[in-house]
Amino acid sequence: MTAKLISGNEIARQIREELAVETARLKEKFDVVPGLVTILVGQNPASMSYVTAKQKTSKELGFYSLQDDQPETITEAVLLALIDRYDRDPRIHGILVQLPLPKHINETKVLCAIDPKKDVDGFHPVNVGKMTIGEADYLPCTPAGIQQLLIRSGVKTDGAEVVVVGRSNIVGKPIANILLQKQKGANATVTICHTGTRDMTFHTRRADILIVAAGKPKAITADMVKEGAVVIDVGVNRIGMTPEGKAKLCGDVDFETVKEKASLITPVPGGVGPMTITMLMMNTVKAAKLAAGVV
Ligand code: NAP
Repeated sequence: MTAKLISGNEIARQIREELAVETARLKEKFDVVPGLVTILVGQNPASMSYVTAKQKTSKELGFYSLQDDQPETITEAVLLALIDRYDRDPRIHGILVQLPLPKHINETKVLCAIDPKKDVDGFHPVNVGKMTIGEADYLPCTPAGIQQLLIRSGVKTDGAEVVVVGRSNIVGKPIANILLQKQKGANATVTICHTGTRDMTFHTRRADILIVAAGKPKAITADMVKEGAVVIDVGVNRIGMTPEGKAKLCGDVDFETVKEKASLITPVPGGVGPMTITMLMMNTVKAAKLAAGVV
């Protein structure tokens, strides 16, 4: 069997089209323009490229879009004051602080300073809690993107054995949480593996849906995958440069061998990656609607 590709590029494009229509409707009918501010501290090249992409997409969708770049040397107190200003700015519905932050700044303190209503990344403990009890306003972007990939590819999660490799707060734990909810597009039986898992292959080989977010190139090989499984590769590993000077990327799954066993598989790049920014835009539109009290 050779797997069919789940194209994150294509599904992200569809969702962005829907969001552009919704943004235009909000403007026309309610005079509401979704507003997003991105706050970037320092000049980490990967962070700069993520922020540029977020800005570009939000402008394309017709948002009110602010880019606030701050020097590496900004103090925690000044950053917190800046967030407080955006918390109170009615033009801004979503505040995105690009992570990681420099070591002298307490990341948790910064994320907790964002008004949960404007926390379009879904990292504030209030939003993590709401997600956990199945009453989320905003799902964290990468896990929400994975769920959309499954739903829009017609993958049945109800009753499926899902195995997640990785337990980070931004991918592993939230995707496990989302898929175990007694809700549409979820209701799966979920297992989480990590470096303390005794026999990972025992678990991964049982998976109808295998979601890998380990940050380790080719951590998953064909012998670890069940025939016909759906494989979602979240990993983004830089493994050199292309002749054009771009970063050469690979996932956490040994794509060439695993695609011969899986029924559906995401590529890297072009799988989960494009979904993350798209879901940030979806959360910002939702934040604008919640703030304006419109549906
Ligand atoms: P992370 O914080 O480093 O967490 C990695 C997790 O994987 C940890 O829980 C770790 O276990 C587990 N792990 C690592 N090696 C393992 C192994 N050999 N066997 C079993 N478990 C293993 O990473 P993350 O932030 O979740 O990101 C994971 C990957 O996804 C990275 O490549 C990242 O770049 C990518 N990513 C992509 C997107 C996107 O939009 N496409 C977004 C976010 C992240 P322990 O807890 O035991 O250490």
